[in-house]
Amino acid sequence: MSARMVILGPPGAGKGTQAARICERLGIPAISTGDIFRANVAGGTELGRQAKQYMDAGEYVPDSVTNAMVADRLAADDAADGFLLDGYPRTEAQVHELDSMLAAAGLSLDVVLEITADAEVVVQRLLGRAAEQGRTDDTEPVIRRRLEVYAEQTEPLAALYEQRGLLVRADGVGALDEVTDRIMSALATRGVTA
Ligand code: AMP
Repeated sequence: MSARMVILGPPGAGKGTQAARICERLGIPAISTGDIFRANVAGGTELGRQAKQYMDAGEYVPDSVTNAMVADRLAADDAADGFLLDGYPRTEAQVHELDSMLAAAGLSLDVVLEITADAEVVVQRLLGRAAEQGRTDDTEPVIRRRLEVYAEQTEPLAALYEQRGLLVRADGVGALDEVTDRIMSALATRGVTA
């Protein structure tokens, strides 16, 4: 079915993994702004050059760079019937920007999913991932900074979407399948089913 969705949750909550699983079931593309930035950094593009210094410090890339990239990606054919945005919007300004992008096409969001996880669990997960993948933004001070920035700028978005009646929550701690089942049940309460 078509579904236009946003997934929120702190870094390390398992958003990327769960996003891929949900998208496979729903037949929509998972669009991760972090992945797009990392691919551009790896490819040495102009976009990557503009984003890298912010990513390496655990700070948000400026909206002028990020919004244009998202607008471009949402205009691609595979996103016409739905998408799951992971990592965007991250600030209230980006919420309004996304509203405008969708409204311009006569569209709106169907559901916003918040994955919750204990702060210490996510720090330990991120340190484990740093050891495995060697991401340049996965050192402990940068991880702590990313969590701080998330708490300050992005966590409040859950309340904003809750006021709009769009928010559902699922606990992200547990076995992969168990978490996916929890998420699918939460989405079903908003009429989003596979
Ligand atoms: P992520 O993989 O979603 O944790 O993103 C990794 C990094 O990419 C973030 O720490 C930011 O530097 C940058 N980034 C990703 N999405 C956004 C966004 N919506 N706005 C600003 N910066 C972003």
